[in-house]
Amino acid sequence: MLKKGMDRRSQNMVEEIKSDYKASADLGLKRCMQCGLCTSNCPAAKHSNYDPREMVKMVLDDDQEIKENPDIWNCFYCYTCQSNCPVNNSACQVNQILRETILLEGGNNERIVEFLSYGYSYMDFGVGAIPSDFFDALVKDFGDHYIQLKINLEDIREELGLVDYNLKGESLDEIRNILIESGFKKRLETFQKQGES
Ligand code: SF4
Ligand code: SF4
Repeated sequence: MLKKGMDRRSQNMVEEIKSDYKASADLGLKRCMQCGLCTSNCPAAKHSNYDPREMVKMVLDDDQEIKENPDIWNCFYCYTCQSNCPVNNSACQVNQILRETILLEGGNNERIVEFLSYGYSYMDFGVGAIPSDFFDALVKDFGDHYIQLKINLEDIREELGLVDYNLKGESLDEIRNILIESGFKKRLETFQKQGES
């Protein structure tokens, strides 16, 4: 079960988003006054054509073309917009629900293929790990510092008195069972197939 109410096409986008289980009960979507604070503080907007204020406006206008806009896939859920919005709206939540709706409607699966290894890491280690596809980009941004961190992570954690990062034994089995029984694993595999076809 992925959504509250599967007959979502009979609703406009605002109602779809407000009724989604991911939306906060007090989400101020309808109170958006188009002040643009979300965009002015958004790192994704700074480095791409993504515009959270414009996305919210198109949702409020029930403009379905927002679902075709490739820029909405640049949001990376940092929640800065949410913490800055004066009317308790969250462009971040709006984006998450919008993207999930697009995926459920069968579109843009190729856009999440590179993130699937993040999901698979829950199966392998019991925790979310940065997708290996991003390794080169992280090395480019952080250089040798990032490589040294990767190489010495276990020693650093031990020195700090932190337990093993990955889950093991029964704990890991339990997580895997939850992911299988809840349909998470199957969903990952479905997206993988759709994204690669
Ligand atoms: S900060 Fe909030 S009120 Fe302002 S444009 Fe963004 S969503 Fe709308
Ligand atoms: S969550 Fe997305 S929309 Fe909000 S500030 Fe971060 S990147 Fe921008």
